[in-house]
Amino acid sequence: MARNIVSIAQRPGVAAHFGRVFAMNYTLPEFLAHALALEREAAERYRQLAELMSAHGNREVWALFRDMVHFSTLHHDDIQRRVGDLELPRLQPSDYRWTSPPEAGLEASYEQLSDPFRALQYARENEVRAMEYYSSVGQSATDPDVRRLAAEFAGEEADHVDALDDWLAHLRNPPLAWAVSR
Ligand code: ZN
Repeated sequence: MARNIVSIAQRPGVAAHFGRVFAMNYTLPEFLAHALALEREAAERYRQLAELMSAHGNREVWALFRDMVHFSTLHHDDIQRRVGDLELPRLQPSDYRWTSPPEAGLEASYEQLSDPFRALQYARENEVRAMEYYSSVGQSATDPDVRRLAAEFAGEEADHVDALDDWLAHLRNPPLAWAVSR
């Protein structure tokens, strides 16, 4: 498992920035291709984070990340249905990535993410990026379908940020029983 995580961290493009694509005025097929890739990426990263929590015996946060895998996958499949017969462009691999964890490429940086608080902060940071990505695409698009879908997706990402914020607050102020059982 550790090897798998490291090899993903070393993949080119993982640390890429969204700045370049922010200014793009997407066509609908371009937008859908990016959204599909973004959701696939999110599912993959949450799968890694869930594995880390499982390896460190944190069932609560494992369950949260497992749910996030589920929601990202559902969203991906939903977008796939909207694609229908549209032909989608190929993307540069850097356009939709999550940020790398701190000190990317080192197994140690993933070890830091085995701390649930840091893992949640890392996920939150990337959800904020996804939210900003969709909202900026929505604002710069001229295609009305892209504007509508991007705004809708930005709203979904905002819900994910809220869910992670709830968990961060929960870890800061655990109920007594939870704190004792730790
Ligand atoms: Zn999300």
